[in-house]
Amino acid sequence: MLAPTLAVIGGGQLARMMAEPAAALGLPLRLLAEADGVSAAQVIPDQLVGDYRSLDLLREVTAGCAVVTFDHEHVPTEHLHALEADGIAVRPGPDALVHAQDKGVMRARLAELGVPCPRNAIVSSVADVEEFGFPCVLKTTRGGYDGKGVWFVRSASDCADAFASGVAVLAEELVDFRRELSALVARSPSGQAAAYPVVASTQKDGICHEVIAPAPDLSPDLAGEAQEIALRIAGALDVTGILAVELFETNDGRILVNELAMRPHNTGHWTQDGAVTSQFENHLRAVLDLPLGSPAPRARWTVMVNILGGPDASVGRLYDGYPHALARDPFLRVHLYGKELRPGRKVGHVNAYGDDLDDCLERARHAAAWFRGDLGNESE
Ligand code: ADP
Repeated sequence: MLAPTLAVIGGGQLARMMAEPAAALGLPLRLLAEADGVSAAQVIPDQLVGDYRSLDLLREVTAGCAVVTFDHEHVPTEHLHALEADGIAVRPGPDALVHAQDKGVMRARLAELGVPCPRNAIVSSVADVEEFGFPCVLKTTRGGYDGKGVWFVRSASDCADAFASGVAVLAEELVDFRRELSALVARSPSGQAAAYPVVASTQKDGICHEVIAPAPDLSPDLAGEAQEIALRIAGALDVTGILAVELFETNDGRILVNELAMRPHNTGHWTQDGAVTSQFENHLRAVLDLPLGSPAPRARWTVMVNILGGPDASVGRLYDGYPHALARDPFLRVHLYGKELRPGRKVGHVNAYGDDLDDCLERARHAAAWFRGDLGNESE
């Protein structure tokens, strides 16, 4: 039997990284890229270029495909229902995806499921926020990412930006957290699921910066609870593919759900080199309803550090970094996304694995800083 073609909507680095296991498994991909030459368009030859908000284009790219999946969560829900009506399996489906698109819907559903969350309420005026109580966090319910659409507010005068967006706003208690954790699971339509070890992630300015797998010193009880929550959400919401559950570990030893992502996630990039089956491969297996691969770690520790564009964002810098970075550490794993460098933009990541956490941290941090130009490689 010929392998079915899988349609992927969105040409970012997540789609690009799906192409690697797709090639290994002989699974053809067809891409809808938002522009010529974007990250995934460089590596998936079967492609259309255009706007994912056009139903005609979505129909064109999925024609002859049994299954469609996504690089991002922004395809309008009504288009996904239309594709389903055409007989295409949309994975994850629109009724699951809405919980990753809309933080208000997500909070309401998690409350029904009894999943621990920060105290929260939908607010429509500064008076509502005052009643909720300062300090707190305001979030646009839709359209936020990488810290955009999130405001930490201490008084009424801080609230203007949040309400200027015109989108419904969610208020959340300001959680006093020890650190952020992430629980990743893959789930297939027939209900098979695999849970990766729970990881610790560090954010800077709302952008994921560093991930340690597994989370150091996490009690087995909390790790188990985090995995159980992720599996429960995946099952209850009928998620297919990867589900990432971002969590807070509070200083008093509880975990609370921050948000959900229904696609491969930055906190799972370590799995490319640190787990038996990467999140990208398990996403493909899951959406095609193939048996899942083991999520077991291959090494005691894996550290992932993102490479962000530095202040002097010259395009040649990344490749210029190779001679030093690769010679210094023959065990380093480098993943670049083929993106133009811009200050603060995620353009790649490195993974370092081994038995000694401090050594992995040093190697991965050094390499990421080197690529960014923070260690003066421009003078080499
Ligand atoms: P995004 O959709 O941009 O990823 P998040 O809801 O994950 O937005 O928030 C971005 C970051 O802001 C989080 O990673 C966390 O560091 C911080 N944050 C979010 N919600 C809260 C909260 N209720 N209390 C404290 N910090 C928060």
